[in-house]
Amino acid sequence: MTEARAASDQMSQLRHSLRTPLNHVIGYAEILLEDTQDVEAIACLERILCLARASCELIGSAQADAPEQFASSDSKEMLFLKARCIADEAAVLNSGDKHDIDRIRSAANELVGLLHSEPNPKSDRSLAKVHVRGDVKPADGRVLIVDDDELNRDLLLRHLQRQGYHVEAAPDGESALLLLRQGCFDVVLLDLVMPGLDGLDVLDRIRRDTELAHVPVLMISAADDQRAIAESLQRGAEDYLLKPFDSVLLDARLRATLERKRLRDHERTRNLELERVTSALQRSNEDLQRFAYAASHDLQAPVRTVTTYLQLLQRRLGNKLTADELEMIGFAQGAARRMHDLIQDLLSYSRASTAQITTEIVHTREVINNLLADMRVMLEESGAQVSTGNLPAITGDPTGLRQILQNLFSNAIKYRRPEETVRIQVAVTEQPDSWLFAVRDNGQGIPPDYCKQIFLMFKRLHGDEIPGSGIGLATCQRIVERFGGRIWVDSEPGFGSTFFFTVPRPHAAA
Ligand code: ADP
Repeated sequence: MTEARAASDQMSQLRHSLRTPLNHVIGYAEILLEDTQDVEAIACLERILCLARASCELIGSAQADAPEQFASSDSKEMLFLKARCIADEAAVLNSGDKHDIDRIRSAANELVGLLHSEPNPKSDRSLAKVHVRGDVKPADGRVLIVDDDELNRDLLLRHLQRQGYHVEAAPDGESALLLLRQGCFDVVLLDLVMPGLDGLDVLDRIRRDTELAHVPVLMISAADDQRAIAESLQRGAEDYLLKPFDSVLLDARLRATLERKRLRDHERTRNLELERVTSALQRSNEDLQRFAYAASHDLQAPVRTVTTYLQLLQRRLGNKLTADELEMIGFAQGAARRMHDLIQDLLSYSRASTAQITTEIVHTREVINNLLADMRVMLEESGAQVSTGNLPAITGDPTGLRQILQNLFSNAIKYRRPEETVRIQVAVTEQPDSWLFAVRDNGQGIPPDYCKQIFLMFKRLHGDEIPGSGIGLATCQRIVERFGGRIWVDSEPGFGSTFFFTVPRPHAAA
């Protein structure tokens, strides 16, 4: 530590020692002033308060870098005179609580003593060993005061109790932590300079304790050390108050702190509730998905049996049946086929929701070429023409990508305009955060009001004239969302639609 730094620390301790008795003088004088009706006592107390506040200002503005400089300064001389005046005034006070008057007198004498002798920064005033319990009152908040100075504790306790707070006090860090763990406090007023665990240690312990971390801490100290203030704020203190207290400021800051805590508590409760509801929803979604998968899976076999037996019936009795009867069998087969398609679509949706997503290099050109090869029959029958622009390699899930493109290509063919050759264009562009896919068709298009709805499960704009289950786009959306992307459509009815979806680029998703 440099000499200058050591001197500044000593000066700050000296200020602390001088402000502590002044704090007592001001606090008890304010209490007496509130209670007394005696005109002479009121005048005397007001003089004491005036002198004490002026002394505080003098301490704050004293131009001394070290205790030695201060000892020989005018400021010290003026302070000494003021302290003497306070002691003289206190000596003639004879109305009000005797103990409080004694406390003012002894604080004033202590101040005189400190200024008379060589001021000793480490004042060895005895430390209180028991904590004071406040009476339980209906109040706005529960406050814990932690201060090694008994009179400070008493002053704060009484002041806050008068405001209607429920207040308890502890003389040191250890007993404060004990009290905090036993009770539930809304705010801690914590002295910075204490023997044993000092204020910063206690603050650290509170912040590290998951049960206590949410309790706001207001640091209180007579030390006007900027570093200590910054340090305590950095370590998570809510605010900082200098002794002697300005009661208006203290009340305002306490109220503001309690209000902030109330809002944070409210938010915490809401978040917990949200988490609970989300996880309940997630569970119920998973149950539903399991049910949908199991039901569709188990329905496959009976539908297959129905189809097989209908085919057998048709084959064995075909030439004995009338045209009507054959038509009836045809209807039943059609229904069984639709049921089969619906089950397949439901299974795809379930798989899209649960299948493991892989992240690998995907050559989009290869994926599209393979898909087109598999869809060859459908493409040839419809005469659809597919053109592609630049198809880059991306990072993603090839199975999911193929499934999306397959749905979009088959929809482009299904919802074509009969008079037009189906044209499908695929483009992939690289964006800062994602790859943007665009699949454009020249089909019937979608009215603007339905552009969002078509992604909902079972939502169809077409009737039975075009077969479908209304699950394909919901499946695409599910897959895209699981990638972390988005899907949407731009469409002009009568001219065609462009379906867009994004696949986040890995560094952007991280
Ligand atoms: P499905 O095709 O089985 O009905 P989808 O979920 O794939 O189910 O599509 C939902 C609805 O959106 C379709 O019924 C159709 O009305 C409309 N749609 C989808 N794609 C297109 C398209 N390319 N052009 C016009 N309408 C479309």
